[in-house]
Amino acid sequence: MKLISLKKNLNIKINKDIIYYLNPDFVYLPGSNIQVSQDEQVLKGEKVCSNYASPISGIAFGIKKCLFNKKVQNSLVIENDFRELEDSKEHHYNKITIKNILKCLEENKDKDLLAKFKSQTTFSNIVITTIDDEPYVYNNIFILKENIAELLELIDELGVIYKSNHNYLVVKNIDTAIITDCLNAIGTYPSINLTLVNDEYLLGNPEFILEKLQIKDKTLYLTTSELLKLNNYLKGKDTSTILLTISGDAIKESKILRIKKYTLLKDILSKYFTITVSKYKVIANGLMQGFEITDEFNFVIDESISSINIMASVDIPKSNCINCGKCIEICPKGVNPLTKKNINKCINCGLCSYICPGYVNLKAKLQGDKDV
Ligand code: SF4
Ligand code: SF4
Repeated sequence: MKLISLKKNLNIKINKDIIYYLNPDFVYLPGSNIQVSQDEQVLKGEKVCSNYASPISGIAFGIKKCLFNKKVQNSLVIENDFRELEDSKEHHYNKITIKNILKCLEENKDKDLLAKFKSQTTFSNIVITTIDDEPYVYNNIFILKENIAELLELIDELGVIYKSNHNYLVVKNIDTAIITDCLNAIGTYPSINLTLVNDEYLLGNPEFILEKLQIKDKTLYLTTSELLKLNNYLKGKDTSTILLTISGDAIKESKILRIKKYTLLKDILSKYFTITVSKYKVIANGLMQGFEITDEFNFVIDESISSINIMASVDIPKSNCINCGKCIEICPKGVNPLTKKNINKCINCGLCSYICPGYVNLKAKLQGDKDV
């Protein structure tokens, strides 16, 4: 299939340094099954709410309705005591073996990663990708930048234990700063092949990148964000934080932040961002595949959220199909967005809406029909 480069606003630039916001005054844990009482002490790592572990230590402050992803639900509010007092659970360093990888993934109930590692006992190829398939989102490449030595070492070890013939580290050729870092560090690991690809949409999707690299069968495919999770599980490291991109043309400067899980978006915005326009939209998880946040003041950043785009509202002319057929032509999965033929193959990529000269929001219509 033909991949395309999305048009981008070159004025949206990301600050090269990660901001560490690890001391919010409050966090908001989702779930109804609350296991602590008001004013009770909560430890960092303690499971106090529907199996969600607190990312900070502090005091159970109360209950508040918040927005998690697209769902409004009650949350337990924990007031930070800034002491990071931990649950007594000891942190183990696990030797990197297949048995320990499966054990750690099971213990951490990471079903998606477990399915990938359980699928084979050996892999012919390991593909680690830094690509985020969304304009103005940079999580995977910054995770590599932040953890380059540890991640290269882990790729090398995975290659040995899974007996892979080829280990690829895929980077977009526009990420020049990290390419230099990689080239400097990768010299120690001749088993890792730094693979540069063009900045084309959908190369962050396993199907399309593997086709592009002509890699078939028995392949372990991971993003750097998944690789870091595995690294942290194996080494008993802190998993209370997540990386978040906040970017867009309605803010003064776009930034990457490492934050505590379950921080309120409003708290991050008021501390680090200046919104420069009066009318804007807040989008979670990407302009192509994400969704508009309906209540930005009560929106909580949980593990399902990787980016926030704050974009100036533009007046879109009334949508009107002119029967040009472009939406059918561009669809990478052979879906006809007008007749809904092959709708089950839709991957929610948004290309049909992106290309439409009549401003028809086809993606939203398809999502409605698929009841996503
Ligand atoms: S791309 Fe838009 S205008 Fe063209 S056929 Fe599809 S819906 Fe109609
Ligand atoms: S959102 Fe679905 S229908 Fe539209 S281009 Fe992507 S795969 Fe095709």
